[in-house]
Amino acid sequence: MKDIKTRTALVTGASRGIGAAIAERLAADGFNLVVNYASSEAAALKVVDKIGSAGGRAIAVQANLSDVSATKRLFDAAEAEFGGVDVLVNNAGIMKLAPLSQTDDALFDSQVATNFKGTFNALREAANRLRNGGTIVNLSTSVVGLKLETYGIYAATKAGVETMTAILAKELRGRQITVNAVAPGPTATQLFLNGKPQEIVDRMSKMAPLERLGTPEDIANVIAFLTGPDGAWVNGQTLRANGGII
Ligand code: NDP
Repeated sequence: MKDIKTRTALVTGASRGIGAAIAERLAADGFNLVVNYASSEAAALKVVDKIGSAGGRAIAVQANLSDVSATKRLFDAAEAEFGGVDVLVNNAGIMKLAPLSQTDDALFDSQVATNFKGTFNALREAANRLRNGGTIVNLSTSVVGLKLETYGIYAATKAGVETMTAILAKELRGRQITVNAVAPGPTATQLFLNGKPQEIVDRMSKMAPLERLGTPEDIANVIAFLTGPDGAWVNGQTLRANGGII
């Protein structure tokens, strides 16, 4: 069924953090990799080099997911290099926190543009272009459940992602394509750590009963389950991976 040899995975926002860990893991599992980034070219090329050194095949492709034509070009580049795309991991995302009353238009628009519109742009391409038998995984967040103060717009964009996930899974009936979301809890990456006082990082690290932050590899393991043969029967779901925080 889900034979991963010679199949191609496209991971958005794979220049660092969770996306880089996913790209490296899927390459180790046998996929050809398309490592997407928006501006961090050097970091993306390092991920490609690491995959190459480990015996895998990967290319880096610049595309800002909030841009429709750039997203189309990303899929064009993947198809030109590898002949087609089997797996899309919609990982690119940004997080900007503020109480709703202090959320300016730029903060709102940028998160909607990348997290919601960007995910939609890639989902639409994937729905039309993914090879039958493929897999789509979208990154959400456990904050959709936790509903913490200041996370309002960010969590709302991801709630939209979870809704699109479940509906697209149904719309792809007959194509043998699964569509799921993975919702991490606090995970040790730039997105979570940057700008947070150490005391908040420490407090949030202890929120889950497993009493630590997630690692990018923890999340990559869950994605690998969904993109590999063992996850083939999971479809239309949001899988929270957060050490038990909610
Ligand atoms: P990072 O900030 O570490 O990495 C984000 C990646 O996304 C970078 O590679 C960045 O590349 C890329 N990116 C950002 N905007 C765009 C865009 N418009 N188009 C293409 N690429 C883009 O984030 P994480 O690894 O922490 O997060 C990955 C995903 O996991 C996100 O969707 C996030 O919401 C989600 N998540 C993270 C959690 C955490 O605690 N870390 C918890 C729950 C969910 P470049 O620098 O080139 O822009």
